[in-house]
Amino acid sequence: MTSNDTIAAIASAPGAAGVGVLRVSGPAVPGIACELLGRDPEPRRAHFSAFRERDGELIDRGLLLYFPAPASYTGEHVLELQGHGSPVLLDTLLRRVCAMGARLARPGEFTERAFLNGKLDLAQAEAVADLIAARSQAGARAALRSMEGVFSRKVHGLLQALIALRVHIEAAIDFPEEEIDFLADPLIQHQLDALGVQLSDLLREAQRGMRLNDGVRVAIIGRPNAGKSSLLNALSGSDRAIVTDIAGTTRDVLREHVSLDGISLELADTAGLRETDDPVEQEGVRRAHGELVRADVALLVTDALHAEHDLALLADLPASVERLVLVNKIDLDQAGARYEERANAIWVWASARTGEGLDALREHLKQLAGAGSGEGAFSARRRHVLALEQVAVHLDHADHVLRATRAGELAAEALRQAQQALGEITGTYTSDDLLGAIFSSFCIGK
Ligand code: GDP
Ligand code: ZN
Repeated sequence: MTSNDTIAAIASAPGAAGVGVLRVSGPAVPGIACELLGRDPEPRRAHFSAFRERDGELIDRGLLLYFPAPASYTGEHVLELQGHGSPVLLDTLLRRVCAMGARLARPGEFTERAFLNGKLDLAQAEAVADLIAARSQAGARAALRSMEGVFSRKVHGLLQALIALRVHIEAAIDFPEEEIDFLADPLIQHQLDALGVQLSDLLREAQRGMRLNDGVRVAIIGRPNAGKSSLLNALSGSDRAIVTDIAGTTRDVLREHVSLDGISLELADTAGLRETDDPVEQEGVRRAHGELVRADVALLVTDALHAEHDLALLADLPASVERLVLVNKIDLDQAGARYEERANAIWVWASARTGEGLDALREHLKQLAGAGSGEGAFSARRRHVLALEQVAVHLDHADHVLRATRAGELAAEALRQAQQALGEITGTYTSDDLLGAIFSSFCIGK
């Protein structure tokens, strides 16, 4: 699909700068380029040109680049004008371009056109925005890989395997007299198992990609006075959380963004988890539970005396939540800083007051946030992870009906739904609402 209108926007950041870039895309581009340059521009060549008003008045001088369709970012004719980075000049130039037949672009409209013209799939388009917004090196690298299609190719690989299985099962349904035998074929079960493994690998990678993108969410939990606020302050280097000796003072949830060597963490200090009659404190405890459910990492703060007992606080967490145990206040008993892995959790002995042992804690937090995930790590969004979880539900269902009832129709339907959920990631199946929500969060000019 090609649009019949032409869009224009200032693509460089607002404010004064050395260079400013204006971008134009659509059918009016060749005419606009010719009028500005005074002749037809050569494709993909930098022309040094005067940019003039209709009456000949000079607006600016700069570079004019013309990318004919379809070999351009949007897949349409694209014009890029690079002039001086003055907001006033750029604005005048933008108005001049609009007078020649362009209109102002909406946020993300260039990338939306690239998606609609098949230049990028939806996950790649989202990665463009994530790359621009990346807050860490690791996040930027991961977003770049997704933009290059690393994630999309894996989704596509899974989709191919899913379709192959669907075809296999649907063939069985078309020959009802043989259906029972067909579905008993161990190959089908084998394909389904392989698909499950492939999916759970991708889900794990996507979860890591989401953490690289958004930063990892750490919920700090523990009994009152364990040292949660002290820890938050020590990690964030601020005194935002109130540290007191009165048990139960942190009643609201405090959030702090901390960057550890380019990995971003969102730390939430929750109220002490304990039974209480004070309604204000009860509210805090309720929020602490809410925080735990949406966390990537549950960080339990305790001390040598209470550790075994406090472990109960980690008991009914979903398996996807990583567990860290900080045995705090080692300065009181000279226990010495150390760490070990024990019972699905990493245990770190340290002191929030003196800072001893906190480096090990920082290191483990970084690992959990996806640092060192190294080669191939790609960025992902919550929407992608949710879609993959949906695929898992449909696959489980297909597996169940095949094993329990050998109901080929039902299995095929479950696989069809799995395929649809998977297609939502790359945009094969999307609603206009979803597209609107995704592209409107872009910046203008992208
Ligand atoms: P919270 O209720 O879990 O947030 O605990 P706070 O951070 O408010 O700390 C409660 C008390 O324990 C305060 O008096 C802190 O100074 C003290 N505290 C926290 N961490 C340590 C530590 O590592 N060593 C010692 N000796 N005291 C600590
Ligand atoms: Zn506190």
